[in-house]
Amino acid sequence: MSFEDLGLAPVLLSALREAGFTAPTSVQQASIPPALEGHDLMVSSQTGSGKTAAFMLPALQRISQKPANGGKGVQVLVLTPTRELALQVHAATQNYGKNLPGLRCTTAVGGMPYGAQLRALSKRVDVLVATPGRLIDHLQSRRVDLSSVHTLVLDEADRMLDMGFIEDIENIVERTPAARQTLLFSATLDGTVARLAQKMMRDPQRIDI
Ligand code: AMP
Repeated sequence: MSFEDLGLAPVLLSALREAGFTAPTSVQQASIPPALEGHDLMVSSQTGSGKTAAFMLPALQRISQKPANGGKGVQVLVLTPTRELALQVHAATQNYGKNLPGLRCTTAVGGMPYGAQLRALSKRVDVLVATPGRLIDHLQSRRVDLSSVHTLVLDEADRMLDMGFIEDIENIVERTPAARQTLLFSATLDGTVARLAQKMMRDPQRIDI
């Protein structure tokens, strides 16, 4: 199977070629087509499986098709458990989205100074990659508006729950539109992750790799 077979747009296929990716990984093959159709997904996936592209390529494709809400508002929100993972997702987004004209991606993560984040958040942001605690801080001071989010990604959801972020996640999700698409990636899909999914996803397709 090729990336072309998955239904990705030329603007993304060219970036994948430039990154030297020749074929999609299993998690990409299974997740990208239903994500492009707009389904909610809960996907079991490990670090190193290629999960970042599995959620970011469909999210970027949606951005490339939609007018950017008059140039305002976050369209894609990715929640990650740690700063390190957020920075990796940010770098991957810039790589996969390098041929999308004017794409803006920024991070809101703990353990980093507020100044640079506040400056970045005061401009247009298409993709926001955040850790839950810091995003809550920015929401409380009304620095971030999530009312135009069309794609919400919970990356390494089990780790976020293990770290005690459940209330923060629920608070954040409440501030996104009900009609959003939600993509959940996690090493395990049972127990508390399943309960979280039941609360915040609509008829999710479950993908076990
Ligand atoms: P991830 O699991 O998203 O952290 O990705 C792990 C690593 O695999 C990253 O360095 C990606 O750049 C790389 N990668 C992701 N998808 C592919 C692919 N289809 N072909 C080759 N490398 C890939």
